[in-house]
Amino acid sequence: MASSGMATITPAHLEQLRRSFRGDIIDPGSPAYDDARRVWNAMFDRKPALVVRPTSVADVQAAIRFGRERDLEIAVRGGAHSAVGHSTTNGGLIVDMGRMNTVQVDPQRRLATAGGGALLGHLDIAAQEHGLVCPVGVVGHTGVAGLTLGGGVGRLQRHFGLTIDSLRAVQLVTADGQVVRASRQEEPDLFWGLRGAGANFGIATNLELDLHPFGGTLHRGVHVWPAADVHEVWETFRDWAASAPETVSAIFTVGIGETEADDPGTIANEPVVIVSYNHSGAATDVERDIAPLLAGPRATKVTATSEPYLTAQGSSDLTLAWGSRTAILGGYVRDCSPAVLDAFVEHVETAPAEGSISVTMLGGAIGRRDDADAAFTGRAHPFDVSPDTSWADPAEDEANLAWVRDAMAIVEPDLLPGRYINELSDEGPDVTAAAYGEAKLERLRALKRGWDPANVFRLNHNIAP
Ligand SMILES: Cc1cc2nc3c(=O)[nH]c(=O)nc-3n(C[C@H](O)[C@H](O)[C@H](O)COP(=O)(O)OP(=O)(O)OC[C@H]3O[C@@H](n4cnc5c(N)ncnc54)[C@H](O)[C@@H]3O)c2cc1C
Repeated sequence: MASSGMATITPAHLEQLRRSFRGDIIDPGSPAYDDARRVWNAMFDRKPALVVRPTSVADVQAAIRFGRERDLEIAVRGGAHSAVGHSTTNGGLIVDMGRMNTVQVDPQRRLATAGGGALLGHLDIAAQEHGLVCPVGVVGHTGVAGLTLGGGVGRLQRHFGLTIDSLRAVQLVTADGQVVRASRQEEPDLFWGLRGAGANFGIATNLELDLHPFGGTLHRGVHVWPAADVHEVWETFRDWAASAPETVSAIFTVGIGETEADDPGTIANEPVVIVSYNHSGAATDVERDIAPLLAGPRATKVTATSEPYLTAQGSSDLTLAWGSRTAILGGYVRDCSPAVLDAFVEHVETAPAEGSISVTMLGGAIGRRDDADAAFTGRAHPFDVSPDTSWADPAEDEANLAWVRDAMAIVEPDLLPGRYINELSDEGPDVTAAAYGEAKLERLRALKRGWDPANVFRLNHNIAP
């Protein structure tokens, strides 16, 4: 279905929408338009015919009805962090859920109900008021809905699992305007698909999430080595991953050392290896649990802090602020061979911008569930490899996209089944097939045919019906 462009919306159409819609309606003539159409990744500078901000389920129903009647491509927006511009459109309708952002916490039931436009920061703060937590991502301005419907990884992933593992139910407005509640008991098949391919089936108006008691302190460390130590550091990291308790989440990164004047131990502008960890257990256990990381070569720089969970969760909000251009890809591996590690080092040296390649420790609570439990695929694998890069100049878009693709080519022969769709700047049928595998894709297609046969919700890693 092609978008029919801006000319389809007349003042009479807008008047008709206003009769059934209580939220904001922003058209290209509105002073708010340029701000309303922006998304986090500056690569996607698109011009929708209309942006609407619903305030209720009825508004969401009216928005979908309006978009369908006018044959407008519908983009659904939570936190606007999509790596591939899925929450914006040229000439279509953006349904921006940003006004439906409340989070209610029921501490007795250890349950949070987050609106379809809530951000991670809203959820983190509301849950921590009661000494509770939902494991989510690492940047406060990411959307709860977009992150959760794709999977959700973060600082507590090995302790409490993926965000979808804490998802109890989703309230959804479907393509035909029905309001559906999906959980393990109600519409269980839809609930299965929502956990990993969720943007395909409707607009989530709220998500019910299990909360876990959590004291609220994270013990965090960063160790830096020169790239010459990459083989030994990897072996240390890999062995640590096999035995580390679930309270440890850690990332091994090959990147370029930061320029920090007068900071001893900093290896500026040279390739480095960095291991950063978050320990969510007792302070008294940290020394014991981190000891295996110290068994390898001596790091040239070590920092360690203990800080409130909310401080850690907000710590990247400014460095990863809106407005840069970013590309990211990812896939799962069992190990990194010496040749792969050498190629990583060489590749970051030739990055056109600030490129790095991260290998995230999975396992722990993530790996305890069966892969068949949800559409999300790959939870049983030990490591997730993900190159990413950021730059400012539009003329460098192609070079940076090529750089992340070339980084993935290094590990291509070692890739295990599945991809995490939230870390993919590439899209298309091959990408979707790689993300879910043939058997799950078939099941997802059947679900899509049932819930969205006209593919109204197609700005996502799309399951073609
Ligand atoms: C700075 C940054 C940090 C990140 N950190 C992490 C991290 O730590 N862990 C992690 O797992 N991921 C992380 N991500 C990836 C992130 O999870 C995905 O980009 C996710 O899709 C963002 O969701 P969103 O709501 O912010 O984005 P949007 O661009 O608004 O939406 C993304 C997709 O979800 C759909 N969607 C959004 N809201 C709804 C809704 N209410 N109902 C139905 N569909 C909806 C959209 O249509 C779109 O297809 C990060 C991304 C960025 C840019």
